[in-house]
Amino acid sequence: MPDSRDKDLGLTSSITRRDFLNGVAVTIGAALAPPHVLAALEASGGDYYPPALTGLRGSHPGSFEVAHTVRDGTFWQDAGKVNDTGENYDLVVVGGGISGLAAAYYFRKIAGPKARILVLDNHDDFGGHAKRNEFRSGKRTLLGFGGTYSIESPAPYSAVSKAMVEELGIDVPSYPKFVTKDLYRSLGMRSSIFFDKENFGSDKLVTNPLPLGGGEDGYNSADDGSGWKQFLAEAPLSEKAKQDFHRLCTEKKDYLPGVNSEEKKARFARMSYAKFLTDVVAVDPDVVRLLQTAPHPLFGVGIDAVAAQDAWGLGLPGFDGMKLDPGPGRGMNRDAIHNEEAEKYFFHFPDGNASIARLMVRKLIPETIPGNSATDVVTAKADYSKLDQPSSATKIRLNSTAVRVKHNGDPASAKEVEIVYARDGKTYSVKASHCILACWHVVIPYIAEELPDQQKEALGEAAKVPLLYTNVAIRNWTAFQKLGTNSMYAPACYHTHLNLDLPVSIGDYECSRKPEDPIVIHMVKTPCKPGRPARDQHRIGRMELFSTKFETMERNIREQLARSLGLGGFDPARDIEAITVNRWPHGYAYEYNSLWDKFWLEGGETPCEVARKPFGRLAIANSDAGAYAYTDSAIDQAYRAVQEITKA
Ligand SMILES: Cc1cc2nc3c(=O)[nH]c(=O)nc-3n(C[C@H](O)[C@H](O)[C@H](O)COP(=O)(O)OP(=O)(O)OC[C@H]3O[C@@H](n4cnc5c(N)ncnc54)[C@H](O)[C@@H]3O)c2cc1C
Repeated sequence: MPDSRDKDLGLTSSITRRDFLNGVAVTIGAALAPPHVLAALEASGGDYYPPALTGLRGSHPGSFEVAHTVRDGTFWQDAGKVNDTGENYDLVVVGGGISGLAAAYYFRKIAGPKARILVLDNHDDFGGHAKRNEFRSGKRTLLGFGGTYSIESPAPYSAVSKAMVEELGIDVPSYPKFVTKDLYRSLGMRSSIFFDKENFGSDKLVTNPLPLGGGEDGYNSADDGSGWKQFLAEAPLSEKAKQDFHRLCTEKKDYLPGVNSEEKKARFARMSYAKFLTDVVAVDPDVVRLLQTAPHPLFGVGIDAVAAQDAWGLGLPGFDGMKLDPGPGRGMNRDAIHNEEAEKYFFHFPDGNASIARLMVRKLIPETIPGNSATDVVTAKADYSKLDQPSSATKIRLNSTAVRVKHNGDPASAKEVEIVYARDGKTYSVKASHCILACWHVVIPYIAEELPDQQKEALGEAAKVPLLYTNVAIRNWTAFQKLGTNSMYAPACYHTHLNLDLPVSIGDYECSRKPEDPIVIHMVKTPCKPGRPARDQHRIGRMELFSTKFETMERNIREQLARSLGLGGFDPARDIEAITVNRWPHGYAYEYNSLWDKFWLEGGETPCEVARKPFGRLAIANSDAGAYAYTDSAIDQAYRAVQEITKA
């Protein structure tokens, strides 16, 4: 029974479920669509247009169940006969994320426009993690990124991935002309910390004296002193904790005098940042609690599982007086290594790198997305009916999970590979001269059983980092302005990081410039279980995401927004227009970490190098193949995989 709190939060309104069905329908392959899409098709009347779906997106219901039955060994019990489509391709790519699309692109470049290519993906949209979320607010369309946020990478893009970006027409250096850099600051808004009463004794929004916990506005500048003043006066922490935190951030002390830089880095590579704070700096436990989730958006775990050396690289406090030589220490996580050239190479589209995926699809099947520039693509509406046309040499087949990939004969001499996929309860086969597996590496051992055991084991080690990327469309952002914040770190809340959309206008897309206008709030959660090894934490977090109902997530979102923004007049029942939770139980590629991966400290072949070896007519791509959770890795690995099959 709904109670009055449900009403206050807006949980009794049917808006989210109603919107879940918006914009989906019938033009293509309705007969072949999976049940959840069919339900949406029946309830609407428009086009099949997944970006406009709200509710639970990311790995949405209907996308993963088949793969889980393959993993559990039950798929073939109920599979029925395999229907031979009679289709024969030069290349089949499993996985329609950026890596799979890039593989199709590179292969076509070499084999020519007549090359027959099929891309299979289990989701109802292409792009993989590069996912576009759309919302309607009155007459306005708001865009959000459901996954991959921007062109950015801790290391410089390779010549290959840079060339791809340029061939797609993206002029990265022109980015400043699209962003209204000072918008929020000019309105007196800055980053803040939200303390919740369950964990810190009272609900309190306080200015963030550091750019603590990052902040996707990207423009958190150094504190002018007023932030500290307010923090020290108002943060609901003990005096001792506040003074310790201030000391940690400002005292510039060498806590290991007499130890040289190399030795310090070696120790810090083997010590968690939480331990550094407790044992080396000796701060109050509340300071550890305050910082616990700061690295979540990047590492997917808290400071108990992030090495102190990586914390130094990330700019977390406590290292200013440690006299550490600049430059990466041995075993540093690649996310924690700074590179000036890389930092300048940044571009954010309003839908994130979904624009990259859309530009790739436009190159592969031009009739799908009208237009001809990287600026007009932002508002161009994709025609999903054109993705899988019999007359097209390149096809993208959605809602299709590859369940078996096998050479016809001895892999060393076979001339073709058979790829079997499941779609809407039926099983189909196609044949191809080559197959690139650009899907998640943990899936590959289950579908390509003929791979050597050692390779399958290495593939299985690439279990990804789970995340929620939540987008909430709201009627206006006056509450944010009243409270003077555009970005919040909420160390112990369900979503630990929250940001107003970056003010980027590209082509015909205009960002929200006035607090009275609608906008998208972006929220991040990375579920994990502190105190355990990182991989275990990710596994537990993944289970949590798969087993949490959307209704629970929605309640948590509404509660958090009501409590953190309430004093600014935010009313969730009135102000929330739609919610899209992009659930990514298989999110970032796992990156090696000196606390847990001995080989990373000691050198030698890494699991990803073993995992990505070509085998017969199969090659292996995906960002997992570089153990690097960035778009450039997805592109570079696709390029390598295509070279392997075309030069063999
Ligand atoms: C929330 C989030 C935010 C990110 N932000 C950034 C960012 O800002 N910048 C950046 O550079 N990188 C970011 N990344 C990393 C991102 O993963 C890469 O940039 C890149 O998009 C990965 O592309 P991919 O093709 O390798 O993998 P994916 O995008 O995961 O694509 C693989 C596809 O294969 C499909 N698949 C799996 N199994 C099967 C099967 N059996 N049959 C058919 N299909 C299958 C998957 O469902 C998926 O659609 C982010 C990742 C996440 C999750």
